[in-house]
Amino acid sequence: MSALENRPVTVIGAGIGGLTAALALARRGAQVTVLERAPELGEVGAGIQISANAVRVLDALGLGTALDGAALRTDAVQLNDERGRRVLRMDLRAHRPEARFLLIHRARLIGLLADAARQAGVTIQLGVTAADADGLTIAADGLRSTYRAALNGQQVPFFTGQTAWRALIPDPGGAPVAQVFMAARRHLVSYPLPGGLRNIVAVEERPDWQDEGWSHPGDPDRLRAAFAGMGGPVPGWLAQVDHTHLWGLFRHPVAARWHDDRLALLGDAAHPTLPFLAQGAGMAIEDAWTLAACLHTIPDQPQALARYQALRQPRVTRIVDAANANARNYHFGGVMRIGAHSVLRVADRLAPSLMPGRFDWLYDFDPAEQIP
Ligand SMILES: Cc1cc2nc3c(=O)[nH]c(=O)nc-3n(C[C@H](O)[C@H](O)[C@H](O)COP(=O)(O)OP(=O)(O)OC[C@H]3O[C@@H](n4cnc5c(N)ncnc54)[C@H](O)[C@@H]3O)c2cc1C
Repeated sequence: MSALENRPVTVIGAGIGGLTAALALARRGAQVTVLERAPELGEVGAGIQISANAVRVLDALGLGTALDGAALRTDAVQLNDERGRRVLRMDLRAHRPEARFLLIHRARLIGLLADAARQAGVTIQLGVTAADADGLTIAADGLRSTYRAALNGQQVPFFTGQTAWRALIPDPGGAPVAQVFMAARRHLVSYPLPGGLRNIVAVEERPDWQDEGWSHPGDPDRLRAAFAGMGGPVPGWLAQVDHTHLWGLFRHPVAARWHDDRLALLGDAAHPTLPFLAQGAGMAIEDAWTLAACLHTIPDQPQALARYQALRQPRVTRIVDAANANARNYHFGGVMRIGAHSVLRVADRLAPSLMPGRFDWLYDFDPAEQIP
């Protein structure tokens, strides 16, 4: 019998991490309540890439068919220079025919997770700001987690000097390719979404910004001015932006302490990351699997929580470090850029399978092989 059978668990936060954890725990027999301070479920209108490592977990939780109906499957990731000329194309289907890399609207993913969790018996309470909870508590309360601070003390995050703009535009029929356009001190990532939409994330080095958070409304003209001069399809996309949000990008250390005897951190609460590897939600989804599996197989709760941290911390630290390195690589200027782009172009022509292979450790991972 599962050590979680009929155990009450409170999950704080109904983001991607909290809802996946609630579903994973309920599938193992726990009685789960999710507390979410927002009055409604959902997120700022935007897309998200869910890579194969996280899709594997969602499949194992029974969401595969619903996901495939709600998402586009990515064919490739293409790096381009500032003028829109291809530098490198990584064909995801050729390198990993079985693995799915998905593009989905965030609100849709949250909706799928919430529906599945409720069907598995989870209670979701909206408009409730958790201060403390009885019994086993999973803090999936995001980037500004008060529970991380309670376990680790207040830490001052480090501003990277970069701000990110995010926008959605109409774009029916876009090929399912995640495109990156790299220039000195800025880059832009874009991919299509189901429903004839296109997601844009544009990152600019801007040392004056100081506020961390999600929902600062931005000025579309300021976005167009900041990315003027980029070629290819970029000017046409930016011309269509009529709403945008922007926020500062901060670096936080991975938390040293993820748990005490009755509380565990999960997702951004434990390891906020820069978005340059598109893995924040993926790591939260992996955490959810591992946490539920540890609590299911190890009856002693403190031991189970310690095992969860021991299994997860090395991997998320490697991922956060790789995302930090990408921030530098995309923004090379001058001679460094010419050199880096030439190497990538040669690799693209001579060994097209080489580059995707660099991330096998990331995308081929299955947390169920570590702990079923
Ligand atoms: C520009 C950008 C692009 C990104 N793109 C990708 C991508 O393509 N792929 C990817 O995998 N990741 C991506 N990410 C990262 C990803 O969005 C986050 O890592 C992920 O959403 C974190 O999920 P979470 O559940 O841990 O936290 P959150 O989504 O922040 O959820 C926390 C929830 O807790 C609630 N809450 C907080 N405090 C309390 C409280 N006291 N009581 C009750 N509720 C509370 C909040 O209201 C919120 O709903 C991106 C991030 C950014 C900024």
